[in-house]
Amino acid sequence: MWQRWLSWLVTAFSENIHPGFCYNQTIMAFEFFKKKNEDNLPGKLSAGKEELFCYGFDASSSEGKPSAVVRPLNTQEVSDVAAYAFKNNVPIVPRGAGTGMTGGAVPLKDAVVLSLEGMNRIIDIDEKNMVAVVEPGVINFHLQERLEDVGLFYPPDPASMKFCTLGGNVAENAGGPRAVKYGVTKDYVLGLETVLPDGRVLMTGGRTYKGVVGYDLTRLLVGSEGTLGIITKIFLKVLPLPEETVTMLCTYDSLDAAAQSVSRITSSSVIPRALEFMDNESIRAVENYGSFGLPVDAEALLLIEVDGPRASVMEEAEKIASVCTASGGEVSIAEDMFSKQRIWDARRAISPALYRIRPTKINEDIVVPRGRIPEMLKELREIAEKNNLIIANFGHAGDGNIHVNIMTDKNNEEEYRSATKSVRDIFEATLKLGGTISGEHGIGLTKKQYVGMELSDVSIEIMKKIKNVFDPKGILNPGKMFPPDKY
Ligand SMILES: Cc1cc2nc3c(=O)[nH]c(=O)nc-3n(C[C@H](O)[C@H](O)[C@H](O)COP(=O)(O)OP(=O)(O)OC[C@H]3O[C@@H](n4cnc5c(N)ncnc54)[C@H](O)[C@@H]3O)c2cc1C
Repeated sequence: MWQRWLSWLVTAFSENIHPGFCYNQTIMAFEFFKKKNEDNLPGKLSAGKEELFCYGFDASSSEGKPSAVVRPLNTQEVSDVAAYAFKNNVPIVPRGAGTGMTGGAVPLKDAVVLSLEGMNRIIDIDEKNMVAVVEPGVINFHLQERLEDVGLFYPPDPASMKFCTLGGNVAENAGGPRAVKYGVTKDYVLGLETVLPDGRVLMTGGRTYKGVVGYDLTRLLVGSEGTLGIITKIFLKVLPLPEETVTMLCTYDSLDAAAQSVSRITSSSVIPRALEFMDNESIRAVENYGSFGLPVDAEALLLIEVDGPRASVMEEAEKIASVCTASGGEVSIAEDMFSKQRIWDARRAISPALYRIRPTKINEDIVVPRGRIPEMLKELREIAEKNNLIIANFGHAGDGNIHVNIMTDKNNEEEYRSATKSVRDIFEATLKLGGTISGEHGIGLTKKQYVGMELSDVSIEIMKKIKNVFDPKGILNPGKMFPPDKY
């Protein structure tokens, strides 16, 4: 038994980078489970070692302390880990690549991190049925590449796609720039294999495009942030690869003009495949980070992409370009693959680039009805001015999804207090405009105290009961998603 446990235990980085990690961590986790087996007490072994430290974080500013890290390589092993944890009351936290923005994969209460990184096989590309079957640790981009080779397409493209896992995408219901035309992860998940907290394996859906037998448990599991089950296999719908894409940049000398353009484009007859927005703070941060050739004097820019059959795609691009010019924008079209790539590289660099402004980022991903983006941007400007804060905004404007980044410094007490306080103002403004406090990053740890601002007591009560059905002992990703006083 313990020889088998040993083979599942992992490191935060590849052994090439940190040769000592695997052995130490293996021993620690081995000791941990051995201890559990002996006295049945959770949390005895604390994470004092550097290697475990790495699994205490994700891309949010949250921080935890895992007791051990376990890396199963197949469903049976996940099931064994869960059954063991259930029997011994050990809290476990599923983890993909740790790119989550809200602390979902951060371990609390000395939980054991269950890393799915090693389950990274693309099991089947079923061209006949237009389905891809994957393990949860597959990196989103790796699937995209494999599909493109055979003329297929998986649209959900979070900006982190080169390093986040599909399991993490399903657990967070991730979106991306292409959501404006193609939808988000939930629109592509046909079925799931999920290990329940007591070790039982639940199969929902499968390779069919339709199915209405019973409650839609697949949909319930998508976006459940690792609180209901551990996803071990994913059935995804795939599409034919569009023949052509045209990528454009449109610059504006006023934020309002850019926001007005977004409203006009989204209510026009052409649906772009991406409609991304950057304000001047974001543009300057990105240029400072990587010299991508963005116009630093522009107050805002839109990155717009259209796709479709070769015969019609240019016509659609021209229609959108004329909407942009009519709102005061200046349009340029990327001439070649290199220019397209450079524009997207700039877009994907925003998140890390913002740290050049200030060392601490409070990142929110609010959504408002698309026609209300101009009002929301005005509200954000006022909140920034009132509190004397730097707020950089960018995001998936085509979905009304704005990534609001309060750039601050944790060590500057007064400023940081003001920054955290302004989060509530931002959410109040969002809800007043008919929006939601998270479009894709989820709740995790960082937003749980605000959930009650949006969800009614009835919703929270039902969610709590659902959680209890799946996880009666509360061992799976405890302390996440629910407002503290309701859980
Ligand atoms: C630079 C950057 C850009 C980003 N851009 C986007 C974007 O455009 N759109 C977007 O939606 N998000 C974005 N994100 C956020 C993040 O990449 C996504 O939430 C992603 O889906 C997380 O995947 P992960 O593998 O890193 O999951 P993790 O961070 O490891 O985990 C996230 C949550 O999923 C749970 N989980 C992970 N795997 C499983 C599993 N197999 N079974 C059950 N639960 C599981 C964890 O418990 C946790 O609650 C971005 C993040 C960064 C750092």
